[in-house]
Amino acid sequence: MKALVTVKRVIDYNVKPRVKADGTGVDLANVKMSMNPFDEIAVEEALRLREKGAVSEVLVVSVGPAKAQETLRTALAMGADRAILVSTDDEVEPLAVAKIIKAIADEEQPGLIITGKQAIDDDSNQTGQMIAALLGRGQGTFANEITVTDGVVTVKREVDGGLETVSLPLPAVITADLRLNEPRYASLPNIMKAKSKPLATKTPADYGVDTTARLKTLKVSEPPVRSAGIKVADVDALVAKLKELGVA
Ligand code: AMP
Repeated sequence: MKALVTVKRVIDYNVKPRVKADGTGVDLANVKMSMNPFDEIAVEEALRLREKGAVSEVLVVSVGPAKAQETLRTALAMGADRAILVSTDDEVEPLAVAKIIKAIADEEQPGLIITGKQAIDDDSNQTGQMIAALLGRGQGTFANEITVTDGVVTVKREVDGGLETVSLPLPAVITADLRLNEPRYASLPNIMKAKSKPLATKTPADYGVDTTARLKTLKVSEPPVRSAGIKVADVDALVAKLKELGVA
């Protein structure tokens, strides 16, 4: 069984994003970019399933600019077998990504598609669900644990206040949550090896997908700056202050 894993190039999670002065978006000039953290977890899970013998090949796919090749090479260095870059300079919304992944899935017939639960740049939390809907497959979202046995995948899902266990017939779509695993680091020899692994470059048009945006960003603004706190002498003073501020 093949596993298809989606990986998005996003602003590195350690970087504090800066909003452009004109409020049209986040400033990406000279900013460190990395693989979306949930996608590292998705790649790791596919590799572990391959190591257990449940998966025979791990295919990684990214939709984005030419530089997303670096993200794919990172996934190949972690251990993925093959990559497809769907190259576009447009800002691609979840529906367009999902349509592209559907078209690739029609060609590649993966038994499992694993996405991150959300991209940390747009925070949409939509792509995996849309892929499942377009393919008419079951979805196990927010996966905390995955077990594959005899044509069935059992997924423990992170839900409010606990875990829900669901069972899905394969093929299926899974979205990876934070506690699914701890992704491995790529070793230097594997980074070298990854350079010669197959990476195909396609365009959205190759899959008949129009990536024109359906949404228009009207404004992006910084969160309000937190004002400094004050110290109070005791509980009575605290209650008096809260009353004064109208919060108690
Ligand atoms: P989102 O729905 O945008 O929050 O993204 C959820 C997941 O879909 C991400 O963690 C990725 O695995 C996948 N995804 C979203 N956009 C892309 C993209 N442009 N290229 C590859 N994968 C993507």
